[in-house]
Amino acid sequence: MTQAEAVRKGFNALYGADPEGVWQAPGRVNVIGEHTDYNDGFMLPIALPHAARVAAARREDGVLRLYSGQYPDAGVTELRLDDLAPRTVDGWAAYPAAVVWALREAGHRVGAADLYLDSDVPTGAGLSSSAALECAVATAYNDLYELGLTPPQLARLCQRAENEFVGVPCGILDQLASACCAEGHALFVDARSLDTRQVPFDLAAHGLVLLVIDTQVKHAHADGAYAERRRGCERAAELLGVRALRDVPEAGLDEALARLPEGGLRSLTRHIVTEDARVERVMALLDAGDLRGIGPILTEGHASMRDDFAISCAETDLAVDTAVAAGALGARMTGGGFGGSIIALADTADADGITAAVTAAFAARGWTEPRAFTAVPGPGARRLA
Ligand code: ADP
Ligand code: MG
Repeated sequence: MTQAEAVRKGFNALYGADPEGVWQAPGRVNVIGEHTDYNDGFMLPIALPHAARVAAARREDGVLRLYSGQYPDAGVTELRLDDLAPRTVDGWAAYPAAVVWALREAGHRVGAADLYLDSDVPTGAGLSSSAALECAVATAYNDLYELGLTPPQLARLCQRAENEFVGVPCGILDQLASACCAEGHALFVDARSLDTRQVPFDLAAHGLVLLVIDTQVKHAHADGAYAERRRGCERAAELLGVRALRDVPEAGLDEALARLPEGGLRSLTRHIVTEDARVERVMALLDAGDLRGIGPILTEGHASMRDDFAISCAETDLAVDTAVAAGALGARMTGGGFGGSIIALADTADADGITAAVTAAFAARGWTEPRAFTAVPGPGARRLA
């Protein structure tokens, strides 16, 4: 049975009718460009083969019904569309409800629906299970209600949904990656213009793999740390008299830092400015066909997140250091930080040894065993059936 058939069947068993269709949207890993999105900067995600799927059918009575295969004990959640308001829905149901709310807020005449959700994107692992879910629902609504919205427009809407309705102050990276990525490609994003460019990212052709190692340490975006970094960056931009830190050129970094008070704001600024520059250096290498050459830039990016942005943790640091020592061409934490997953770029022949080395290093400390898989760039949000 295909995954589309499985959710179709689940929908039918639960709601007693066939869905009108099945849609899916992927999780992502970010190759480089972390916390740059809310600084109007650059990033370079790929879509994972892991995705959220939704079987959906419209309803005419204004009652939204939600069920998730990941939260079977919660049963079916029923919400009246007219009652939807920011921060009024608790738990996982807030994410799909948020999307419907955001569509209506944006003036789209959409009604209710029965939704059956299922996902193999690990949650809270820095792989963007929340954006996958939002984009799957938004893509389903876009088709069912014939809204004609483009993938970047859907991404914007999903970001607003998560920011305002759920209450997580995330940037646009996750939603844009889930909505816009293409198979075999990385997605270059300029978060100011929302211009995107598909860049070939054919790991196999270069004899390489991109390992994703989930440290199983749960991050908490909604927690103050993310919001605090975000506020710090906005404050630094304000003090420097620029619209966003993206407007500080790398060549002018030292001069800009000297104009900021000593301490935290300087290191936040240094991470963002050098990180944007790293995305540009990675892009130049990819455009020159040198995928292997990006390794050291990834590792540099990790050091910047660890030392300047202070968003890594003992587990992600150990995973990165061990991967590099075991022969990875480069490695870094991916996602918002404080745990979650790392990526490691490696020669195919070295992948198993790297995974074994990281597993052994965690075991030696008595930490939970990390979960590893290889990421091949998958497709963005789409209709499955
Ligand atoms: P990440 O997006 O990095 O996985 P978040 O904390 O942003 O982590 O989002 C995780 C939350 O998204 C989960 O706690 C849950 O509320 C919601 N979620 C993700 N996947 C699903 C799913 N398949 N079904 C229901 N809710 C989900
Ligand atoms: Mg998320």
